[in-house]
Amino acid sequence: MAFVTNDVSISDEPRELLFDKHVEYIANHGNDKNDYEYCMTEFLRMSGIYWGVTGLDLMHQLDRVNRQEIIDFIKKCQCPTSGGISACEGHDPHLLYTLSAVQILCIYDCLGEIDTDAIARYVSSLQQLDGSFFGDKWGEVDTRFSFCAVAILSLINKMDVIDLEKAVNFVMSCCNSDGGFGSKPNAESHAGLIYCCVGFLSITDQLHRLDCEKLAWWLCERQLPSGGLNGRPEKLPDVCYSWWVLASLTIMGRLNWISDEKLKKFILSCQDAETGGFSDRTGNMPDIFHTLFGLGALSLLGDERLRKVNPTFCMPQYVIDRCNVKPKVITQIWLPSQGSRQERQRMQEVVLIGHFENVLRVPFLLVDHVEPVMGSVGTEHNGRCATKCSQSKDRPARTYQLPQGWHCFRRHRFSTLTCNLLSGGDSSLRFQPIPG
Ligand SMILES: [Zn+2]
Repeated sequence: MAFVTNDVSISDEPRELLFDKHVEYIANHGNDKNDYEYCMTEFLRMSGIYWGVTGLDLMHQLDRVNRQEIIDFIKKCQCPTSGGISACEGHDPHLLYTLSAVQILCIYDCLGEIDTDAIARYVSSLQQLDGSFFGDKWGEVDTRFSFCAVAILSLINKMDVIDLEKAVNFVMSCCNSDGGFGSKPNAESHAGLIYCCVGFLSITDQLHRLDCEKLAWWLCERQLPSGGLNGRPEKLPDVCYSWWVLASLTIMGRLNWISDEKLKKFILSCQDAETGGFSDRTGNMPDIFHTLFGLGALSLLGDERLRKVNPTFCMPQYVIDRCNVKPKVITQIWLPSQGSRQERQRMQEVVLIGHFENVLRVPFLLVDHVEPVMGSVGTEHNGRCATKCSQSKDRPARTYQLPQGWHCFRRHRFSTLTCNLLSGGDSSLRFQPIPG
């Protein structure tokens, strides 16, 4: 069967992160207040500041912009009547900009500068009877706003002002048969909205409601031959989807379901070598939005020059820790099937580290510790869940036994076997091959 793939060709350059260029690009963004682009983006000024401040903080350069100026600006944008925050002075408040403002204040560790009780009232006033949220007083409903609502409330520690159960039920009513989520019930799955819903479930500790297997398949199929990720089937790749898709996979413990090397190459090719900044695709004009999400994705991929980013909030992890907010992730422990023989020998016992109170499904990755494994999964063994691994031709299949109640899953396309469990603790568990 032939099918059409929309993709782009990417250049080999740049191959490295143009760190200093990006710092300059963000730090100078908005300096020229008469600049055409600056004037045209007034309607999203607050989010623009969040993108810039977060990008700089990820690069350890937070002091490159004027903290006090930004805090003063945010204070002027809080509506004295509703409590919500607008994109810019004189505009209507909206959940999107309220979240951006709260995120910036958390990064600056100065939430006390605004009236957070008024913000909580504003968020709760937008919840509807079915659990959904309006974005603002004009009444548009979208799962993005459900995410904004719980993200804001968890950062200001006032989650109890909304009906959480109804909020969760609404988000789950937007789940489609492909495992993905749309903007409202029966709306098409879309990677950006999947990120919002997965993030929502991460904040509200409801990740067990996801069909991770199905959803992660849908998400990893977003990767195109260029290495870039698109947001829906048949669309072009775009750097911001590197974030939406990758962050969702990270929350679900399945970052390794896509090729990180190819994705990294795609993202790096979207840098502007002259001005700094990232564009949506190779060769296009850079902007501050794609710059943050390019940096965020590279941080998720482990770039050591960047601070660790939190996949749920797209904020530096140290800020999330300082706020004492604990969005959940599913940790899937995996070991590389490649590696030196010695390394693999050392992995004779697979150690699974995780938090076992709320085991959803269990991660396990069967890596054969001597030879790379091609596994087939899912045999019952002595009444317990187990899996059988047939390895390279000359070795007999070996059965591994899993603790009671554990389930095993199909092999994914990178020929590792995976399970998953909730992270958070530091208890550890070992499982070993069944003798014989
Ligand atoms: Zn984009």
